[in-house]
Amino acid sequence: MNASSEASTGTELDVDILIIGAGPAGLYAAYYAGFRGLRVAVIDALSEAGGQVSAMYPEKAILDVAGFPLVRGRDLIGALLEQAAPYDPAYLLGEQAQTLSHRVDGRVVIGTSKDRNVTAGAVVITGGIGTFIPRPLARGLDFLDRGLSYFVPDLSAHAGKDVVIVGGGDSAFDWAVHLEPIAASVTLVHRRDKFRAHGAMVTRVQGSSVRMFVNADISAVRGNGWIAEVDVAHKLDETITTLPAQSVIAALGFTADLGPMMRWGIQIDARHIVVNTRMETTAPRVYAAGDITDYPGKVRLIAVGFGEAATAVNNAAATLDPDAEIFPGHSTEQEG
Ligand SMILES: Cc1cc2nc3c(=O)[nH]c(=O)nc-3n(C[C@H](O)[C@H](O)[C@H](O)COP(=O)(O)OP(=O)(O)OC[C@H]3O[C@@H](n4cnc5c(N)ncnc54)[C@H](O)[C@@H]3O)c2cc1C
Repeated sequence: MNASSEASTGTELDVDILIIGAGPAGLYAAYYAGFRGLRVAVIDALSEAGGQVSAMYPEKAILDVAGFPLVRGRDLIGALLEQAAPYDPAYLLGEQAQTLSHRVDGRVVIGTSKDRNVTAGAVVITGGIGTFIPRPLARGLDFLDRGLSYFVPDLSAHAGKDVVIVGGGDSAFDWAVHLEPIAASVTLVHRRDKFRAHGAMVTRVQGSSVRMFVNADISAVRGNGWIAEVDVAHKLDETITTLPAQSVIAALGFTADLGPMMRWGIQIDARHIVVNTRMETTAPRVYAAGDITDYPGKVRLIAVGFGEAATAVNNAAATLDPDAEIFPGHSTEQEG
């Protein structure tokens, strides 16, 4: 299931709860807001829902989400979207939340990168590590979206292609493993001979048909409209290998930026938003959940983010309607 971007640029929006960040915590918060009968919108700077999971490890098997002995990242995000879908959240994707202010009646106004003002009774910030931006492959910039990509949202887009993956971390190795059976060829290029990726994944790739070049860099990318070949420069003997490539995936990591949130007047310590047990930030009607929060004993896991999202939304709901209970009752009571 996909989240589709809802309102066009500049359109004002008025909701009960605005969720900033469509990672797992934000998507679960969207479900919970809908479950409580609240009108909800979710905004994310990335063009795809799923936060770190979709961007960095959609094919990875996650083993520690309660109730799922094993769930692929992509499937978890699909299920979260499906769970929220009955409540019809408005998804504002590819749009960054940039300013936060309060109206005299207490409602919160978020200004976005698309010149939109979203007015909300309350805001739940589930911004994870902030807006994350892929580290660019310097030599390939001209070919972005013309063969060069930073994410693999859809494995099948690389089927039958000669794929060159650049990087030595988990994402690079995950994608090598998953693309090997469907690509014409997969070559992994890494600038060092040590990898940040999990040892088991490295061993698996080494035992596969994936070709590996270490102590090597991409020194040139060529093509006519679309990438056709790359030069791999070997640092030790200063030779060049030219490879056919219709797909180059740069998995060079990300820079994360809390960016605009730093100017919202909420307490941030060491790049995390300080919350109390209600998941309230220091700004009225502004809550937070997921990786972005901090408090004594905080653990940054998807499972923890789910719990915090429910706490944040339920407390926000009680703030919006003083007659509402914080505990909404069990979902099982709503069945049929
Ligand atoms: C390689 C890897 C493997 C992992 N494996 C596991 C695992 O096995 N189990 C586990 O529990 N956890 C794992 N994690 C951690 C897990 O992914 C995070 O805990 C989880 O994604 C946090 O979810 P979140 O919703 O809080 O934030 P995120 O997933 O970081 O999502 C936050 C979203 O907010 C958006 N955003 C930020 N600022 C703004 C803004 N101003 N405007 C609009 N949008 C904004 C970002 O674009 C992003 O999409 C792993 C992480 C990595 C990198």
